[in-house]
Amino acid sequence: MSPDVLTAPQTQAAPDVFRDEALPRLDLAAKHSRAKAETVERLKHAERFTEGGIPVQMDDGSTKMFTGFRCRYNTVRGPAKGGIRFHPDVSSAEVRALAFWMTFKCATVGIPLGGGKGGVIVDPRGLSERELERLSRGYMRGMADVLGPDIDVPAPDVYTNATIMGWMSDEFDTIKRGRYPGVITGKPVSRGGSLGRDDATARGGFVCLQEIEAKRGWNPKEITVAIQGFGNAGQHFARLADSVGYKVVAVSDSRGGIYDENGLDVKATIDTKNSTRRLPEVGRSVTNEELLELGVDVLVPAALENAITRDNAHDVKAKVLIELANGPLTKEADEILAQTDALVVPDILANAGGVTVSYFEWCQNISGYYWNLETVHERLGDIMSSAFNSVYDLMESEGVPMRTACYAHALNRLAEAME
Ligand code: NAD
Repeated sequence: MSPDVLTAPQTQAAPDVFRDEALPRLDLAAKHSRAKAETVERLKHAERFTEGGIPVQMDDGSTKMFTGFRCRYNTVRGPAKGGIRFHPDVSSAEVRALAFWMTFKCATVGIPLGGGKGGVIVDPRGLSERELERLSRGYMRGMADVLGPDIDVPAPDVYTNATIMGWMSDEFDTIKRGRYPGVITGKPVSRGGSLGRDDATARGGFVCLQEIEAKRGWNPKEITVAIQGFGNAGQHFARLADSVGYKVVAVSDSRGGIYDENGLDVKATIDTKNSTRRLPEVGRSVTNEELLELGVDVLVPAALENAITRDNAHDVKAKVLIELANGPLTKEADEILAQTDALVVPDILANAGGVTVSYFEWCQNISGYYWNLETVHERLGDIMSSAFNSVYDLMESEGVPMRTACYAHALNRLAEAME
């Protein structure tokens, strides 16, 4: 790995999700917060950014190079926290933006952690299991100096999972010659993982849905839901919504989606997707673009960023959007939806259930005392409801979109710690 570089905001003209999407939201929120201008300026810079090549021996004996990143964005409220993404489109700007979002996400829900993020440019579907293990261990070998339970604590993200976290945790223990379960979260339960981590992100979003249901007096049976992305977040959200009667009418994965206006059989859809890696051929096929424009009540982007842009935001018909994915709406899409009566529950609140249970895992690892599932669900529910209502109240009192209220709420907490 190359040495760390202290960072400054990037200035090149190419598209840059950090510069174009993350920073403008901070400036907007600053107008509705108590933060000093110098605090806002400080929050435009990551504390540290690490990038390096990871040599991986492939099964055929050759060695292939991969590029890995880790951004420690801000640790004023506690150690940095954020996932590691394995995806061909990973870039330094994306990692930086995601680390920035983690800083605000932890502050939104009030857990004592900062923000970080990591990634590797790779399509893991093209690797064998052993190659994936060697890449995961190689990433940890390169990053072990900048990670640790009291500095920066990774977790799973797109195309990484509990097994990968287990390999990385094992590698860290080998390097440090000790047992440090708190170095990484989202581990298998048998290796110090928390109960309830697998569906935590979706469950947090589901708590938001139930808060909206209470405020709007919804009968779930009359409410239709479409979900873009049918991985960890999307599948669990579908299952939880279905379990209380919501009508999940459309879901999609990277190949496209299925739509049935009478409601999909959620359990069968999940079973087929997980056993065949494909969605079942039921209902009507829809493209990912069509799914976003369906006339549903609730739209849940649960895939990747920039799903809704200025090109398709006008065509979104859902009245409630719950952003389980990170950054699924661009800034321009946000501005377009802000002119409508759609309620957009922003990513840093809607998907904060994942980091909240990661925080629980870290607490349990540090104390060595493990909680039952009921305790995890109860504490997660309390944190998510309280955050949702604080942000909702600020939205109403300031008369701003929920995202701006959320950033302002988080910025107030960060400013309090920094100033
Ligand atoms: P995952 O890898 O389990 O699933 C991703 C899903 O998105 C897959 O079904 C994939 O086929 C689909 N997908 C990929 N490209 C797509 C495209 N272009 N159009 C439609 N679907 C596409 O990932 P995940 O853990 O469910 O994460 C999904 C999103 O939620 C990401 O934005 C991630 O950052 C965010 N998130 C996840 C967690 C977590 O705990 N898993 C926590 C917070 C945020």
